[in-house]
Amino acid sequence: MRHAVYAGSFDPLTLGHEDIIRRGAKVFDKLTIGIGINPDKIPLFSSAERLDLISEVLSDLENVKVVCFEGLAVEFVKQEKATVMLRGLRTLTDIESEFTLSLANRTLAPEIETVFLMASEKYSHISSSLIKQIGAMGKDNTEEQLKHFVPSPVIKLLINKLQK
Ligand code: ADP
Repeated sequence: MRHAVYAGSFDPLTLGHEDIIRRGAKVFDKLTIGIGINPDKIPLFSSAERLDLISEVLSDLENVKVVCFEGLAVEFVKQEKATVMLRGLRTLTDIESEFTLSLANRTLAPEIETVFLMASEKYSHISSSLIKQIGAMGKDNTEEQLKHFVPSPVIKLLINKLQK
C-alpha cells in the first residue's frame, strides 16, 4: 500500500493544490491531506473551515482523507504510518526552498521519501497569498476573477472574510 501525505497550510485551498491532490490520488493508493496548524500564525481560514472546504472539494476521491495536525510534518507522516511526503513545485524559488526542506526532513526521518509533482502550467502562478491580495483588492467582478484561482466553494467565504 503506497500511502502519501500532502501537508500544507491550505489557507485557502487553491486550484493548484487541488490539481496536485487529484494527480497524487492517482499515483498513490492512499493520500492523506494534512492541514498544518501553526499556533504562532493567525490564519485567514480557521482549521475547521479549511478542513470542511477541502473535504467538500475532494469528496469524490475515495482514497483521500483530510486531517489537521500540529508540529512537524515528518512527525505527522510517521503518525499516519505513511512513507511518502508529497509536495508541489511551481517555480525555481520553490525548488530551492523545497530542496532544503526535503534535506532537513530526510535528516529527521530518513525512512520518509519526499516526492514532487511539477505544478500544471495553468496553475503554476497560483499561491494562497496571491489569492488573498486579489480577494481583498478586487471590485465588483472579484467573484468572476477568483474562479481562475480557487475552487468555487472557497470563493464566497473568501470574499466575506476579506471585504468586510
Ligand atoms: P506551505 O505553507 O507548506 O507552503 P502551501 O499550502 O502554500 O503550504 O503549499 C503546500 C504544498 O503545495 C507545497 O508543496 C507547495 O509548493 C504546493 N503548492 C502550492 N501552490 C501550488 C500550485 N499552484 N501548484 C502546485 N503546487 C502548489
